[in-house]
Amino acid sequence: MTTAQVVDLDLAGRTALVTGAGSGIGRACAERLAAAGADVVVVDIDERAAKEVAAATGGRAVPADLSDLDAVDALPAAVDVLVNNAGLQVVAPLTEFPAHEYSLIQRVMAEAPFRLVKLVLPHMYERGWGRIVNISSVHGLIASPFKAAYVSAKHALQGLSKVTALEGAARGVTSNCINPGFVRTPLVDKQIAGQAAVHGIDESEVIGTILLDRAAIKELVEPAEVAELLAYLCTPPARLITGASITIDCGWTAH
Ligand code: NAD
Repeated sequence: MTTAQVVDLDLAGRTALVTGAGSGIGRACAERLAAAGADVVVVDIDERAAKEVAAATGGRAVPADLSDLDAVDALPAAVDVLVNNAGLQVVAPLTEFPAHEYSLIQRVMAEAPFRLVKLVLPHMYERGWGRIVNISSVHGLIASPFKAAYVSAKHALQGLSKVTALEGAARGVTSNCINPGFVRTPLVDKQIAGQAAVHGIDESEVIGTILLDRAAIKELVEPAEVAELLAYLCTPPARLITGASITIDCGWTAH
């Protein structure tokens, strides 16, 4: 018989870099990692939000536009936990999809994560420990119409995460994707308002009948619930979880 052991997450002495940490899921991740003792580097294009989250978490604000890949290369490299989270959504049919928006989304959501992984891996390899967590989406696993750029970028992120897992395996570095369904954040609030206007229905109806149409549990995920999954991936018992895509999607992809 074994004795159950409760393992607390202790990130004292570790540095975590979270992109898009000024809002939503990124903010919740920064707060959770800081609560576990990590020094958090709060990266966001929104300087005011980055400073606010840095102040709230005792972290360091590093305002940066991730679509500027030179700026990405200049971010801190001495990082033990990397959370590739920043993202944006543009919804349009392929025949009308603005090409510049497609490129922007690939840069922010696929190329910047690659640059960051490349930047921080030498430090992780040197210390023999690293945790890379990519905030993907159900849209890293399946598609929806009108989201060509987002779905493409998230699928690319899934590939990057798996290659990172294979290369990092012998060096103490794990890499995983978290795949949320709809999470209650400003990114989704904008989509709810947009859909309500398009369909001429109220916002609660949008959530129940449009957004959560495919979800078995008709609820939005909370940002803190995503952050808790991230926290688990940083604990010692998660050391063998790598190359995985972990859904938190109310059963959406169970169909
Ligand atoms: P959000 O809009 O609340 O936050 C995104 C943050 O990213 C913002 O603070 C924004 O300023 C920052 N950002 C955007 N472009 C940037 C850029 N060029 N450079 C630096 N920072 C930039 O969004 P969220 O819902 O918290 O989404 C976070 C991540 O979670 C995204 O990758 C998103 O795709 C993913 N996700 C969200 C949901 C959801 O339902 N909200 C579901 C699945 C996956």
